Amino acid sequence: MITSENYFSSENQMACMGASQFKAFQKCEAAALAEIKGEYVRPSSTSMLVGSYVDAHFEGTLHIFKAQHPELFKRDGGLKSDYLHANDIISRMESDRLYSLLMSGKKQVIKTGTIAGVPFKIKIDSLLDADTCKQIASEFPDAAAALGFCDGAIVDQKVMKDMEPVWSSEDHCKLPFVESWGYDIQGAIYRAVEGNMLPFVLAVGTKEDEPDLAALYIQDSDLAAKLAEIEDAAPRYQAIKEGKVSPRRCEHCAYCRMTKRLSGIINYKELGADAE
Ligand SMILES: [Zn+2]
Repeated sequence: MITSENYFSSENQMACMGASQFKAFQKCEAAALAEIKGEYVRPSSTSMLVGSYVDAHFEGTLHIFKAQHPELFKRDGGLKSDYLHANDIISRMESDRLYSLLMSGKKQVIKTGTIAGVPFKIKIDSLLDADTCKQIASEFPDAAAALGFCDGAIVDQKVMKDMEPVWSSEDHCKLPFVESWGYDIQGAIYRAVEGNMLPFVLAVGTKEDEPDLAALYIQDSDLAAKLAEIEDAAPRYQAIKEGKVSPRRCEHCAYCRMTKRLSGIINYKELGADAE
């Protein structure tokens, strides 16, 4: 059985695809596979730890998280400034009525299912029931479009640097942060695996000096388009995991740079010519 504790264990990462794993395959198949096999460990950053710190608070497991991460503390035992600021972000989130209602659902709900025949797993930050959705819609008329007539909602919490659009070298334009970080892909996977066509809502807080908040939904047509992309790509990624197809290297990411072997001498003008 998949639990919160073993959700990211190598056994479960091999058995089931998750939203992060799917996105990793989209970026670089070789790096994603090496990570699953334990041959490559993606460097974890302070920025990711701040997000996990906030998640742990809302999950009610912050004491365990603190015990597992001595790097949160200074020598004198006090929290480092990044995590003191994480406490400010949490206070800001909890001082907001709508934000608190969104985070009041069942925590860390784990489910498994299949998409295009591929086993997937999801971990929902806050799963709201129909009554809470009704309550939110009656207190906040502007939330009714997202939660009006539903049997519940999937809420995912995000701690972001800010909510600015992000430059995409692939699309040669700025994309909304939701698309740039693949939260629409995550939403499509979560909704398909959860199985009840529930709305997918992002509860966002930022790390800016004065934290910003947002409650965002992704409309059905966008989730449906993303699900079609996932159905297209997932079987290939699954075949790579099963060793039936060899992974493509992107030749740009940290893993590809780390494992690169020079095989010849090229004209400098060809450097980067294979870039997308
Ligand atoms: Zn790569």
